[in-house]
Amino acid sequence: MRVTFATEPGSSTIDNEDFVSATADLAVVLDGVTPMNRDDTGCRHGVAWYARTLGADLVRLAGQDAVSLADCLAEAIVRTRDAHAGTCDLAHPDSPAATVAAARVRGNRLDYLVLADSAVVLDIGDEVQVVIDHRAGQVGRRLSANGARPTAAQVRSHRNRPDGYWVAAERPDSAYEAIVGAVETTGLRRLMVASDGATRLVDTFGTVDWRGALDALQDSGPRAWIEATRAAERADAEADASTRRVRGKVHDDASVVFFGFSSS
Ligand SMILES: [Zn+2]
Repeated sequence: MRVTFATEPGSSTIDNEDFVSATADLAVVLDGVTPMNRDDTGCRHGVAWYARTLGADLVRLAGQDAVSLADCLAEAIVRTRDAHAGTCDLAHPDSPAATVAAARVRGNRLDYLVLADSAVVLDIGDEVQVVIDHRAGQVGRRLSANGARPTAAQVRSHRNRPDGYWVAAERPDSAYEAIVGAVETTGLRRLMVASDGATRLVDTFGTVDWRGALDALQDSGPRAWIEATRAAERADAEADASTRRVRGKVHDDASVVFFGFSSS
């Protein structure tokens, strides 16, 4: 089994708000949600602290084989919440939050969990399974369908609501809204766990498909994959300047873990 990973901030002036951890049997990637106003979140610690603290708690808890990833995430949310409930206003609508993607190997089984827009991609030989939670994007599209492009505040008002989308924030029940599943490791060739900043070559630019992404990670490694993403973002930003298209941030924090199983 080969395990490699890389993470890179999208900005040289803001802390990397992704968290990544990888061992021979566990991959965890969190992506701290960018607040609308960094000075108005109700939290004195910040998004990078939130992602780091929640990620570390999740890694620790996921060491208990008998406990499901969703239960581990729920308990990690409680621990992280309790670590700053005394100092911060966790009822603030823009309190720190994170997307979560995790995969854990136990014996001949791999469990995965995806909450909000990160990805787990499994190469099972003839088939590539892509696990992505599209609910935040669906909220945005639903609001746009009724007229003008929705504001960030309109989308955010659907956070952690039954008709909206779910992220890890202060409510442990959001862990049970994650997409979870399991596959047998027999026949599993490759695995990718990534924040959305590291899936743009596939889902934003369409440069390669998911199998092509796994090929690139296997052949050239995660660092080269993120460098290729940055190059595509720079080229797109130049095109944007001339056509006045808008695609949000030029660069996003990008993190990716790659597992190559011994059969590959
Ligand atoms: Zn705080």
